[in-house]
Amino acid sequence: MVLQRVIRAVIMGPPGSGKGTVSARITKTFGLNHISSGDLLRSNIKEKTELGLLMKSCIDQGQLVPDGIISRLILNDLRTIDHGGWLLDGFPRTVSQAEALDQVYVVDTVINLNVPFQTIKERLTSRWTHIPSGRVYNTDFNPPKVPGIDDVTGDALVQRDDDRPETVTRRLKAYENQTEPVLEYYRSKGVLETFSGTETNKIWPHVEAFFHKKIPSLSQRAA
Ligand code: ATP
Ligand code: MG
Repeated sequence: MVLQRVIRAVIMGPPGSGKGTVSARITKTFGLNHISSGDLLRSNIKEKTELGLLMKSCIDQGQLVPDGIISRLILNDLRTIDHGGWLLDGFPRTVSQAEALDQVYVVDTVINLNVPFQTIKERLTSRWTHIPSGRVYNTDFNPPKVPGIDDVTGDALVQRDDDRPETVTRRLKAYENQTEPVLEYYRSKGVLETFSGTETNKIWPHVEAFFHKKIPSLSQRAA
């Protein structure tokens, strides 16, 4: 039996920095469970749960949902994972959320995708999403095989309501004010790993190499 240490990771970066795409590659290559706060919230909206209905206007306006609500949602979900490590995408997004997570789990590593805001603004307008799975495509650098169609299910792709230009500006502001302090929080704990660039496909090999070093037993299995 391969003895492997479970890894608990967080991926951070401004909206549209490629967290979804990089997360999908990390979880596929290294077999981690992927938990995306945005996907969880969107699936609540789609299923019209009480929580989803309450949170929809917040999200459509590009504001963060209240800390207590999102922390409970994510920590409940983490409890259902009984084996394997995980990668949190979109959570924590405030220092208070990071503290709530800290009370329950030790985070081993935090991947920070450092992408310039100008690149992000251009990118989000060419982003297409498969809402049920959270798969994202970009007509410039990661297009679906058939335009407007999800590669896996054949469903139609949509543009998210909150990818409109005014909302993107507000999401970037929320990131600067509320989420950048979380980077400091993890930097001071010595677990922050920053990857800078403007293209996901150029950032990815560095992230992949980092995880190979971090999880040797898993990389042997994946090789
Ligand atoms: P990307 O899809 O590129 O990751 P993003 O990070 O802005 O962009 P999501 O993570 O999908 O988007 O989140 C969408 C929205 O859901 C956010 O704008 C916010 O309103 C809400 N949200 C998601 N995670 C959190 C969180 N941890 N705390 C508060 N609100 C959140
Ligand atoms: Mg996302």
